[in-house]
Amino acid sequence: MFYESGIPYVVVLMRCPYCLSTDIRVLDSRDVEEENSVRRRRLCNACTKRFTTYEKAELIDLVVIKKDGTHQPYDAAKILNGITRSCEKRPVNQDAIIEVANKIDRKIRAKGVKEITTKKIGEMVIRELVKLDPVAYVRFASVYNQFNSTKEFTRIISMFNKKREQLEK
Ligand SMILES: [Zn+2]
Repeated sequence: MFYESGIPYVVVLMRCPYCLSTDIRVLDSRDVEEENSVRRRRLCNACTKRFTTYEKAELIDLVVIKKDGTHQPYDAAKILNGITRSCEKRPVNQDAIIEVANKIDRKIRAKGVKEITTKKIGEMVIRELVKLDPVAYVRFASVYNQFNSTKEFTRIISMFNKKREQLEK
């Protein structure tokens, strides 16, 4: 996890804060016991600047409630995986996918809640995918909503078209 404007979030892919390169090396790691975190000195291979990150293993105690009522610990990587799968073979940049996953993760953490439903997370992902790629959006929405009728599918498509129109205005 990495701190940005006070809100800790999982860095799916670490970036240099100076040049945004992802080509980063860890110089040394040290446990910061009183803060229960790991301090890492990092070096950007692209611009050679150094910076420090503090990562916490268990910073938030967030439970995800699945559709069938079962609980599981929140894992931001699952959001990234879901988006990545939806964007397979689509002209979507990996950086854009990571950015969206991080954005959703930050939003979830900023809520400060103890539990969240997969439905709620799914809605947040869908909202971002609409802006990213139409096919990825439909793919994700079809898995997430588990369409059981063509009527529902048609509804999703028209919802998508409406949202696109709004964005293009
Ligand atoms: Zn850099």
